Amino acid sequence: MLKENYVSFEIGKTKKIALVAHDGKKKELVEWCDRNKEELSKHFLCGTGTTARLITERTGLPVKGYNSGPLGGDQQIGAKIVEGQIDFMIFLWDPLEAQPHDPDVKALLRIAVVYDIPIANNLATADFMLHSQYMGEVYSRKVENFNKTIQDRVEKMK
Ligand code: PGA
Repeated sequence: MLKENYVSFEIGKTKKIALVAHDGKKKELVEWCDRNKEELSKHFLCGTGTTARLITERTGLPVKGYNSGPLGGDQQIGAKIVEGQIDFMIFLWDPLEAQPHDPDVKALLRIAVVYDIPIANNLATADFMLHSQYMGEVYSRKVENFNKTIQDRVEKMK
Protein backbone atom coordinates (compact mmCIF):
# COMPACT_ATOMS: atom_id res chain seq x y z
CA MET A 1 0.00 0.00 0.00
CA LEU A 2 2.86 2.39 0.72
CA LYS A 3 4.22 1.77 -2.78
CA GLU A 4 1.07 2.61 -4.71
CA ASN A 5 0.58 6.18 -5.94
CA TYR A 6 -3.20 5.90 -5.70
CA VAL A 7 -5.60 4.09 -3.40
CA SER A 8 -9.20 3.15 -4.16
CA PHE A 9 -12.20 3.98 -2.03
CA GLU A 10 -15.63 2.55 -2.57
CA ILE A 11 -18.71 4.64 -3.19
CA GLY A 12 -21.35 2.18 -2.03
CA LYS A 13 -24.78 1.61 -3.59
CA THR A 14 -26.08 3.93 -0.91
CA LYS A 15 -24.42 7.25 -1.62
CA LYS A 16 -23.51 9.71 1.13
CA ILE A 17 -24.76 12.86 -0.57
CA ALA A 18 -24.02 16.46 0.46
CA LEU A 19 -26.49 19.11 -0.72
CA VAL A 20 -25.41 22.75 -0.70
CA ALA A 21 -26.90 25.78 -2.44
CA HIS A 22 -26.13 29.46 -2.22
CA ASP A 23 -29.11 31.72 -1.52
CA GLY A 24 -29.77 32.53 -5.18
CA LYS A 25 -29.83 28.81 -5.97
CA LYS A 26 -31.74 27.38 -3.00
CA LYS A 27 -35.14 27.38 -4.68
CA GLU A 28 -33.70 25.48 -7.67
CA LEU A 29 -32.11 22.85 -5.48
CA VAL A 30 -35.14 22.41 -3.20
CA GLU A 31 -37.40 21.93 -6.22
CA TRP A 32 -34.93 19.51 -7.79
CA CYS A 33 -34.84 17.48 -4.55
CA ASP A 34 -38.62 17.44 -4.48
CA ARG A 35 -38.77 16.14 -8.07
CA ASN A 36 -36.20 13.48 -7.26
CA LYS A 37 -37.17 12.56 -3.73
CA GLU A 38 -37.89 8.92 -4.54
CA GLU A 39 -34.32 8.33 -5.71
CA LEU A 40 -32.83 10.57 -3.01
CA SER A 41 -34.67 8.64 -0.29
CA LYS A 42 -32.43 5.63 -1.05
CA HIS A 43 -29.34 7.55 0.05
CA PHE A 44 -27.90 9.28 3.11
CA LEU A 45 -28.38 13.02 2.80
CA CYS A 46 -26.66 15.91 4.51
CA GLY A 47 -26.07 19.56 3.76
CA THR A 48 -25.23 23.02 5.00
CA GLY A 49 -27.63 24.28 7.66
CA THR A 50 -30.12 26.39 5.75
CA THR A 51 -30.12 24.25 2.62
CA ALA A 52 -30.65 21.06 4.64
CA ARG A 53 -33.55 22.55 6.60
CA LEU A 54 -35.29 23.88 3.49
CA ILE A 55 -35.02 20.50 1.74
CA THR A 56 -36.41 18.63 4.74
CA GLU A 57 -39.31 21.06 5.09
CA ARG A 58 -40.23 20.77 1.43
CA THR A 59 -39.66 17.06 0.82
CA GLY A 60 -39.90 15.38 4.21
CA LEU A 61 -36.55 13.69 3.52
CA PRO A 62 -34.14 13.44 6.45
CA VAL A 63 -31.15 15.70 5.70
CA LYS A 64 -28.46 15.97 8.36
CA GLY A 65 -27.66 19.66 8.72
CA TYR A 66 -24.21 21.05 9.40
CA ASN A 67 -23.52 24.70 10.18
CA SER A 68 -24.64 27.34 7.75
CA GLY A 69 -22.11 27.73 4.91
CA PRO A 70 -20.79 31.20 5.84
CA LEU A 71 -20.36 29.98 9.44
CA GLY A 72 -18.17 27.01 8.58
CA GLY A 73 -20.63 24.53 7.06
CA ASP A 74 -18.64 24.24 3.82
CA GLN A 75 -15.54 23.44 5.84
CA GLN A 76 -17.39 20.81 7.84
CA ILE A 77 -18.53 19.15 4.64
CA GLY A 78 -14.99 19.31 3.27
CA ALA A 79 -13.71 17.59 6.42
CA LYS A 80 -16.34 14.85 6.04
CA ILE A 81 -15.16 14.27 2.48
CA VAL A 82 -11.61 13.84 3.80
CA GLU A 83 -12.89 11.37 6.41
CA GLY A 84 -14.86 9.40 3.81
CA GLN A 85 -18.23 10.32 5.34
CA ILE A 86 -19.40 12.10 2.17
CA ASP A 87 -18.80 10.71 -1.31
CA PHE A 88 -21.20 12.55 -3.61
CA MET A 89 -22.10 16.23 -3.76
CA ILE A 90 -24.60 18.56 -5.37
CA PHE A 91 -23.28 22.07 -4.81
CA LEU A 92 -25.17 24.85 -6.56
CA TRP A 93 -22.86 27.82 -6.05
CA ASP A 94 -24.10 31.12 -7.43
CA PRO A 95 -22.04 32.42 -10.35
CA LEU A 96 -23.82 35.80 -10.20
CA GLU A 97 -23.29 36.67 -6.55
CA ALA A 98 -20.12 37.30 -4.52
CA GLN A 99 -19.97 35.23 -1.32
CA PRO A 100 -18.40 36.27 1.99
CA HIS A 101 -17.05 32.73 2.38
CA ASP A 102 -15.57 32.44 -1.10
CA PRO A 103 -12.31 30.86 0.18
CA ASP A 104 -14.37 28.11 1.84
CA VAL A 105 -16.28 27.52 -1.39
CA LYS A 106 -13.04 27.11 -3.32
CA ALA A 107 -11.62 24.85 -0.63
CA LEU A 108 -14.69 22.60 -0.75
CA LEU A 109 -14.60 22.32 -4.54
CA ARG A 110 -10.91 21.59 -4.41
CA ILE A 111 -11.12 18.86 -1.80
CA ALA A 112 -13.99 17.20 -3.69
CA VAL A 113 -11.70 16.94 -6.73
CA VAL A 114 -8.78 15.66 -4.63
CA TYR A 115 -11.00 12.88 -3.27
CA ASP A 116 -12.46 12.04 -6.70
CA ILE A 117 -16.05 12.36 -5.65
CA PRO A 118 -18.79 13.18 -8.16
CA ILE A 119 -19.82 16.85 -7.89
CA ALA A 120 -22.64 18.62 -9.69
CA ASN A 121 -22.50 22.40 -9.83
CA ASN A 122 -25.65 22.82 -11.89
CA LEU A 123 -28.93 20.98 -12.33
CA ALA A 124 -28.09 19.45 -15.69
CA THR A 125 -25.06 17.73 -14.17
CA ALA A 126 -27.15 16.72 -11.15
CA ASP A 127 -29.71 15.14 -13.52
CA PHE A 128 -27.02 13.25 -15.43
CA MET A 129 -25.46 12.04 -12.17
CA LEU A 130 -28.73 10.93 -10.64
CA HIS A 131 -29.60 8.96 -13.77
CA SER A 132 -26.20 7.35 -14.09
CA GLN A 133 -26.00 3.56 -13.97
CA TYR A 134 -23.51 4.01 -11.12
CA MET A 135 -26.30 5.23 -8.81
CA GLY A 136 -27.34 1.62 -8.34
CA GLU A 137 -23.82 0.18 -8.23
CA VAL A 138 -20.67 0.29 -6.21
CA TYR A 139 -18.06 2.63 -7.72
CA SER A 140 -14.36 2.73 -7.03
CA ARG A 141 -12.87 6.22 -6.78
CA LYS A 142 -9.15 6.86 -6.93
CA VAL A 143 -7.36 9.05 -4.43
CA GLU A 144 -3.73 9.95 -4.15
CA ASN A 145 -2.03 7.70 -1.63
CA PHE A 146 -1.32 10.21 1.11
CA ASN A 147 0.56 7.66 3.20
CA LYS A 148 3.04 7.31 0.38
CA THR A 149 3.13 11.07 -0.16
CA ILE A 150 3.87 11.64 3.52
CA GLN A 151 6.49 8.90 3.53
CA ASP A 152 8.18 10.36 0.42
CA ARG A 153 8.11 13.87 1.87
CA VAL A 154 9.50 12.74 5.22
CA GLU A 155 12.37 11.01 3.39
CA LYS A 156 13.03 14.17 1.38
CA MET A 157 12.99 16.50 4.40
CA LYS A 158 15.42 14.42 6.47
P1 PGA B 1 -26.56 27.51 3.87
O1 PGA B 1 -25.07 27.52 3.38
O2 PGA B 1 -27.19 26.27 3.35
O3 PGA B 1 -26.53 27.52 5.38
O4 PGA B 1 -27.19 28.77 3.34
C1 PGA B 1 -24.81 27.36 2.01
C2 PGA B 1 -23.57 28.09 1.62
O5 PGA B 1 -23.63 29.31 1.53
O6 PGA B 1 -22.51 27.48 1.39
